Amino acid sequence: MISNSPMGEDMQPSGQQQPIFIMQEGTQQKRGRNAQGNNISAARAVGEAVRSTLGPKGMDKMLVDNTGQVIITNDGATILREVGIEHPAAKMVVEVAKTQESQCYDGTTSAVVLASELLKNAEELLEKGIHPTTITTGYRKGLEASLAIVNHLAEKTALEFEEGIPLKSIAMTALTGKSAESSKELLGEICVSAIQEVSSLEDIRTLTVTGGSVGDTTLFHGVALEKDKAHPRMVNEAIGKIAVLSCAIEAKQSKIEAQVQISDPTQVAAFLAEEENAIKEMVLHIESMGVAAVFAQKGVDDLAIHYLRRSETLVVEKVVRSDLDAICKATGATMVSDIFDLGDDDLGESSIQVVNDYDMPFIRVASTATPSPVSIIAFGSTPHVAAEIERALDDALGVCWLAYQKDSQIIVGGGAPHAHIATQIAKVSHEISKGRERMAVEAFGKSMMIIPQTIGENAGLDPVDVALIMGSEHRENNWKSALLIETEDESGNALVCDGIEKLIIEPASVLKQALKSATEAAIMILRIDDVIMMRSEGPNNQGLQMG
Ligand code: ADP
Ligand code: MG
Repeated sequence: MISNSPMGEDMQPSGQQQPIFIMQEGTQQKRGRNAQGNNISAARAVGEAVRSTLGPKGMDKMLVDNTGQVIITNDGATILREVGIEHPAAKMVVEVAKTQESQCYDGTTSAVVLASELLKNAEELLEKGIHPTTITTGYRKGLEASLAIVNHLAEKTALEFEEGIPLKSIAMTALTGKSAESSKELLGEICVSAIQEVSSLEDIRTLTVTGGSVGDTTLFHGVALEKDKAHPRMVNEAIGKIAVLSCAIEAKQSKIEAQVQISDPTQVAAFLAEEENAIKEMVLHIESMGVAAVFAQKGVDDLAIHYLRRSETLVVEKVVRSDLDAICKATGATMVSDIFDLGDDDLGESSIQVVNDYDMPFIRVASTATPSPVSIIAFGSTPHVAAEIERALDDALGVCWLAYQKDSQIIVGGGAPHAHIATQIAKVSHEISKGRERMAVEAFGKSMMIIPQTIGENAGLDPVDVALIMGSEHRENNWKSALLIETEDESGNALVCDGIEKLIIEPASVLKQALKSATEAAIMILRIDDVIMMRSEGPNNQGLQMG
C-alpha cells in the first residue's frame, strides 16, 4: 500500500532527494493487482453473503439492526439493502441486485451470485497473467453468446406452451423457497387474477395483516387500508356516497402563531362558540349531501367526530395520500381541499367495511369504478411472517406481470438455462474468439454452472455431482433438464427432471437482466487498477470479509 506516496520510485528522477507529493495529505492509494485483488474479494463477499438463500431449499437470513428490529428474509435485494454494505466495489455488486429488483422484480440472488462467480473465475485468469482487458472483452463476447442462447431457449419453451403462458406456474416458481410456499397455489391464483384486472402494476396494492394464516389471503376489488375508524363507537359499515378530503375538519387555525388577549370571561365563551359554530357548519355541509363515509388526509376535530358519529357517518382520519388517491380511483371520488368546495360531483360511491377480526383493524373500500385498484389482503401469523409474505408476493406479482405483457418470453428454470449456456459456450468458444480471449469466454460459460450448483448445494446435493449431471444432460442438448429438488430418493444423488413438465418456468427477461447486470458489474470491477481513497479517516472500511 502506498500512503500519500511520492511518485513511484521508478518515476523519481535520479539524484532528486525530495519526494514530490501530488495528492492531498491523507490520501491512500492502491494499485494494480493489489487494488484488483482487494476489490474482487470485497465484491465476492457480497455473493457469499446471499448464496445460501438461493433456490427452492435456500435458507432465510435474520437481520437485526441496532435498535433490535428484526427482519427474516430470503430475498437477496432486501438482505443487501438492510446490511448497509460500504466497500465501494462491494457496493457495485449491490447495485446489481437493486437494478434486478427494479427492472425484473425477481432473480436478485442469482444476479449477485453470478457476478461473484464471474469475478472468481476472472481472478484465476489474472493469476495466470492474462490482462484484464482481454478478460473483459472475452466476457462481453460470452454475454452476447449467452443472450442468443437464452433467446433460442425461449423460442423452444414457447413451442411447448402454444395454448398460452401458464401465468400461475410462473408465479409459483417465484414463490418456491419462500415462507409463503405452503400456499403457493392460492397465492399464484391470486397473483394471476390481480394482474389481469389492472392496467399498471402500481394498481395492485398489498395489505399485510397479522393474526390470520397465509391461507386466508384474498384478492379484494378495491382498496384495503391499514386504518381504523375515527371513534370506536362509530358505524362499522357504510354504503353510499363517500367524500375524500385533503384537508382537516377543524376550526380554521391561523397560520401565524397568534395570541388572543381576552379581558372578559364572556369573551372566552364567545370565542369557543365561534369555533364550535365553524365546525358545526362543516358537519352540516357534509351531512346535507348525504355522505356515508369521509376519508380525510388530516385530523378531524373531536366535536366533528361526535356529530358525524351521531348521524352514522363513518369517519377515517389521517389517511396517507397514496391511500386517498387509490380510494378516489376506486370509487370515482374527487379529492377536495376545502370542505365548502365539496359538491355532489366530488362524491364517490362505495361500500365500506371496518374489519376488526384480526390483530389489527383495517378498512375495505369496495370499487365501483373501472379501472380500479385491487388489493391483496395477505395474512401472516406474526408480523415477520406477514412481511416476508409481502416480499414474496412482490416477486410473484412482478414476474407474472412481465410474463403477461405483450411479446413476453418465458424460459425453463431450475438451473437448466445456466447449464445450457455453460455447455453451449464450451462448444462454440473457438468460433467466437481465439487465444487468451477464448480462455475468458470459456471462463464466462463455466461461471454459469454456479447457479445449478448453488441451488443443489442448498438442497444438500454435492455441487460436483450437480455440475457433472447437468453438464452431461445439456451437452446432449436436453435443454429441458432442470435440477430435481423435491425428490423421494434419500441417497442424496443429484438428479434431473423435465423442467417444462414440472412447470418450473420464468420470464426470460429475468435471466437476461441478471446476465447483463452481473457481467457489467464484473467488468467494471475488473477494469479498475487504481484505487485512490481521498483523506480517509481511520483504517479502510473493508465491509464484508470473505468467509
Ligand atoms: P432469486 O433471488 O435469484 O430469484 P430464488 O431463491 O428465488 O433466488 O431462486 C431462484 C432459482 O430457483 C431460479 O433459478 C429458479 O429457476 C429456481 N427454482 C425455482 N423453483 C424450482 C424448483 N422447483 N426446482 C428447481 N429449481 C427451482
Ligand atoms: Mg426468486
